[in-house]
Amino acid sequence: MRIPFIAGNWKMHTTAPEAEVLLQSLRESLSDIEDVDVAVCPPFPYLMMASRLIEGSRIRLGAQNMSWEKKGAFTGEVSPEMLKDAGCEFVILGHSERRHIFSETDEVVNRKIQKALEIGLHPIVCVGETLEERESGRTDRVVEDQIEGCLGGISGSDMNHITIAYEPVWAIGTGKTATPEQAQEVHRSIRVWLEHHFNRDIAETLHIQYGGSVKPENARALLAQPDIDGALVGGASLKAPDFTAIVKAGRFS
Ligand code: PEP
Repeated sequence: MRIPFIAGNWKMHTTAPEAEVLLQSLRESLSDIEDVDVAVCPPFPYLMMASRLIEGSRIRLGAQNMSWEKKGAFTGEVSPEMLKDAGCEFVILGHSERRHIFSETDEVVNRKIQKALEIGLHPIVCVGETLEERESGRTDRVVEDQIEGCLGGISGSDMNHITIAYEPVWAIGTGKTATPEQAQEVHRSIRVWLEHHFNRDIAETLHIQYGGSVKPENARALLAQPDIDGALVGGASLKAPDFTAIVKAGRFS
């Protein structure tokens, strides 16, 4: 039995006062949720404040990216230890915006995953095809290649600390959502891949989130699919009532 895991990716949104209001609202609206795991991933400068504001609640903290280096002369980078110090348990790695805007490759994502695990952070590893790749029938191939590239050298025991987020690029921030059946199909094939490359236990216990225009209106149908174990939510995670409704939809998965 996989407890649903819903994470909010705030991207480069909110001011400090807005972040504070959002976190306070979520703390209140999610106070009675016990059967869904929840994390928020605010921008770097608000992580410490977020950590204080969610202390004692069931909301957990994640970051949106990190360096693969431990420390040193890497101007502008944030190390995994810094994220731990700020109270993070999770880190989103390989988001399609990092891949497409900042040219991150599977190799870079792999290095980051290894470092996150070494430091004790739980990576949320994003994979997903573009519209062109889907339309040319290459979805499974592309997703498998990404997973293989990202998870190279990761041990079976480390897999217990990883979440995979299937996020079709054409569905991110576009308002277009994969149908529950389309998402389920890819999630199933990811699980089959995990069984072949690791083992059945890992395939059955690892959480696979869906991401791509998840909203209160579509969350329940997506989360009801047998291989969809949660959601990585962008836009809708910035509105407390919407994010709360998505988390609550997780109770029916
Ligand atoms: C995301 O940023 O991971 C995402 C899925 O965004 P949105 O929900 O806005 O499509």
